[in-house]
Amino acid sequence: MNTILEETKFIMNKYHIKANKSLGQNFLISEEVIQTIIDSSQIEKEDLVIEIGPGLGTLTKHLLEKAGKVICVELDQKMIKILQDRFSLYNNLEILNQDILKVDTKSLIEEEKKKSNWKNIKIVANLPYYITTPIIMKLLEEELPLESITVMIQKEVANRLISIPGEKETGAITYSVYYYAQAEGILEVPPNSFIPEPEVTSKVIKLNIRKQSPLAIEKKEKMFKIIKCAFMQRRKTLLNALVNTKVFSSKEDGIEILKKIGLDTNIRPEKLSLEDYANIAKNIVN
Ligand code: SAM
Repeated sequence: MNTILEETKFIMNKYHIKANKSLGQNFLISEEVIQTIIDSSQIEKEDLVIEIGPGLGTLTKHLLEKAGKVICVELDQKMIKILQDRFSLYNNLEILNQDILKVDTKSLIEEEKKKSNWKNIKIVANLPYYITTPIIMKLLEEELPLESITVMIQKEVANRLISIPGEKETGAITYSVYYYAQAEGILEVPPNSFIPEPEVTSKVIKLNIRKQSPLAIEKKEKMFKIIKCAFMQRRKTLLNALVNTKVFSSKEDGIEILKKIGLDTNIRPEKLSLEDYANIAKNIVN
């Protein structure tokens, strides 16, 4: 018997919950997957954990046992009452009924650090898939003092995030993740590990936040803007993509820059290293 499935159905019945598709609600019912997420996030009693989208509290239950404190950020008001009832005996839980994309995570963490001397701050989540990328980019770009981010997301996005620049699955976001973190794939998860079943296969990944960036980059914002332009027209060569998006003022100008930094003028965007893009940024005047 799957006790998590029974428990989930019981809670959903009791509180008259129907999974809200537009909020990306797919509740985990696999003991093995839950255990893998908990184990790979390596939570200790001295850690502060922020859980995004706790839903009915399936992961939260385990996080509360392991961590010093858990802050849950959940947008759906209906889930808040469930979490409050379910975990009323725990004194290490704080629930925020907010949209994670609007939470001032930096101030939230600063306040928590003033209150307690946390060893590590970790994010753990089975993310709502409709906003996977904005959530991950927010957490990375804000340069929060995080140790790791362990999340379940769509497999296809996961593979792009954990690939290394130059590999087959490389996309613009690969470079951002690579700059901020060392990423690892943990476990592929089939649709029948959730109710309701999502339409895609999922994957648990862990982003171990770098203490130091892999290379010193003078013009970081400019470089990431160039990377975005390069991947806007994926089937084109890098040269054409950057001419079309006006990063290079002309084809001749582009050829000159690529030659100067030792790149083939027919190279494709996904073949460049982070350093190559940093070099392009350095050689562009505006
Ligand atoms: N953690 C639960 C589990 O594993 O069973 C639920 C995961 S479900 C995939 C995603 C959760 O994120 C839902 O509870 C949903 O209501 C919540 N959510 C959706 N959009 C959100 C947002 N913008 N901010 C915070 N939570 C959100």
